[in-house]
Amino acid sequence: MVGAARPNTIVLLSMGYDSLSTWHQLGRPAAVYFDVGSQYSAPEIDRYQKLRISFPQLIPVQDMRWLGEQEQDDRWVPLRNLVMTVRAAALGYDDIVMSAPADWAPDKRLTFTLATSLALRVAQPGVNYRVRRPFSHWTKAKLIAATPPKLLEDYAYSCYEGTEPPCGRCAACGRATIAHLAAGREPPTALRSGLGFRELMDLRRGSANGSRLSETVRMRPGELLYVPLRGWELLRAWEAYRRR
Ligand SMILES: [Zn+2]
Repeated sequence: MVGAARPNTIVLLSMGYDSLSTWHQLGRPAAVYFDVGSQYSAPEIDRYQKLRISFPQLIPVQDMRWLGEQEQDDRWVPLRNLVMTVRAAALGYDDIVMSAPADWAPDKRLTFTLATSLALRVAQPGVNYRVRRPFSHWTKAKLIAATPPKLLEDYAYSCYEGTEPPCGRCAACGRATIAHLAAGREPPTALRSGLGFRELMDLRRGSANGSRLSETVRMRPGELLYVPLRGWELLRAWEAYRRR
């Protein structure tokens, strides 16, 4: 079973749909939120602190704003996941879980989890460190469908603009909308009626920023065709939209 947690499991929570769902699928083990001081940190921290009240296994927010200062124009922070992984290990956890069903970042790929697992084991012999992405073969829609709606409604936040409520126009909001439709769930932000198929699909690119371009640039050639949602899920989203 992919979902098994160990006694020393910790989930790196970003408070997005993927990581919250990953945490839930694993039986809600310990988790941590790293504050890199981004534009959307405040609403994420707000939700993480609320979640901590009900789940004391969540450890305090870790201040990583010093690293966030390296944020690039496309909002990518070099080495973020490496620093977070090592820090989680240094805090005493040996099973470090990342969520990455749709990730284009080089520091979330399989080679990254294998290399960091090895580096940690070399650095501290005798500890069976494991860095993993147990649901990397699941799509965002599948993760959402497998998670109680209330958990996501109350605690998930995924918007590049950092507005409260989420803007509904950026690529993160657009992907959440399509994934919710594909999962048979009500989208988290208002959705215009009268869109055509292409217009609905284009929500994934967002109208409020250029994240799509930068994501494409960071992909390797073999990954250009990679989609976070499968074709049949996009069709299911379209059918759900038309029925509204
Ligand atoms: Zn947004």
